[in-house]
Amino acid sequence: MRVYKFGGASVKDAKGVKNLASVLKTAGYENTLVVVSAMGKTTNAMELVIKNYFENKAELQSSIHEVIKYHNEILLDLFDNEHHEVFTSVKSIFDELILFFKTNKSPDYNYVYDQTIGFGELISTTIISYYLNEIGLKNKWLDVRDYIKTDNYYRRANVNWEQTQENITSNLNKSILNITQGFLGSDANNFTTTLGREGSDYTAAIFAYCLNANSVTIWKDVPGVLNADPRYFEKTQLLHQISYREAIELAFYGASVIHPKTLQPLQKKEIPLYVKSFLNPKEKGTCVDKGKAIVPEVPCFIVKKSQILIALSSLDFSYIVEENISEIFNLLHLYKMKVDVIQNSAISFSVCIDDIYNNRDKLLQHLKAKFNVTCYDNVSLYTIRHYNDEAIKKLEKDKTVLLKQLTQETVQIVTK
Ligand code: ADP
Ligand code: ASP
Ligand code: MG
Repeated sequence: MRVYKFGGASVKDAKGVKNLASVLKTAGYENTLVVVSAMGKTTNAMELVIKNYFENKAELQSSIHEVIKYHNEILLDLFDNEHHEVFTSVKSIFDELILFFKTNKSPDYNYVYDQTIGFGELISTTIISYYLNEIGLKNKWLDVRDYIKTDNYYRRANVNWEQTQENITSNLNKSILNITQGFLGSDANNFTTTLGREGSDYTAAIFAYCLNANSVTIWKDVPGVLNADPRYFEKTQLLHQISYREAIELAFYGASVIHPKTLQPLQKKEIPLYVKSFLNPKEKGTCVDKGKAIVPEVPCFIVKKSQILIALSSLDFSYIVEENISEIFNLLHLYKMKVDVIQNSAISFSVCIDDIYNNRDKLLQHLKAKFNVTCYDNVSLYTIRHYNDEAIKKLEKDKTVLLKQLTQETVQIVTK
């Protein structure tokens, strides 16, 4: 059994869907589970829909319509016959979305987000499953919410491994081609939950773990894991092989090519992860397994944009000690801040955070009651693994460094 994952970029248009089919033909699709994300930037478009639902009702309809139009164009490109069943199926999924917005009573943003954001995945998998069947790649469409069970921590749900394992063991037919959605799960009340943005890689790993799969392949628009994000760095190099440990570190620091939670389940069962190009499926790409730390041994650069750096100092020159630090962390936890770096001295404490739940103002208000607070918005956090002087110099050139921290393997630099 093997698990494949295709992300948004791989199925952003009809050509991408056709290419997915040809990748399956090239790489093989017997005993395979294919996990697919929403097409192209649909998840971002759905985030706008949800924002409009809460803040700008006048734009709600037109933003939903954009999503419908985008998928309709893909459908028309893929299916010659406008009376094909797929059109009715996709329409009924959109009807369900519209009905939800009409009838929803909950004011809870995170709940509403999770009930609606995943329509992108439901639709992409419906289109792809029909298309593959149409061209002779017989497959079964699975609703992932019948398999992956989670708690109800909306937008970052935690997997209930026992129930998920049981569902997968009892209800999944391993000997056929299965197509399902990434990113989604469901809670004990069968409400939809999500595993966090970019969570489809993790979905693939959850299935691989529960199926004792031989391998997971994530098909990307890059040749594999590179030593830096090609969107921000020039002259990147392909890493042929990295260990689980190295991949976990890279993902943790923000190398967005692999979702950070993906590695742990695979490492536990020593299931290799291949990161390959959907444009060149025959190329080797990157293999993540228990072997060597990193081949070739080169510095790896990671950047996280739009972070917040908060520098605190005590109001009266008193030391910042355990008690204050624990209070600060309680607040960070309360406001669901993702902490990237911390640095402290006798009377100061700095923390670089990712504010995905938009709680910056509330946090600052709390902190200002106790500390002198300086807040730098929109900073970039650079991390270099396996750094050397040259790598640091290159990175710091033309930038204002606000914070820098070195450990043996890793340097982290926050810049304006
Ligand atoms: P998916 O379509 O599966 O969601 P993503 O867009 O999430 O794919 O991941 C692929 C992208 O990750 C690449 O296009 C690249 O810009 C980015 N990326 C960031 N860091 C790296 C890295 N170290 N190596 C390769 N790609 C990276
Ligand atoms: N579609 C979701 C997102 O864009 C999940 C994923 O692509 O992994 O975040
Ligand atoms: Mg993605």
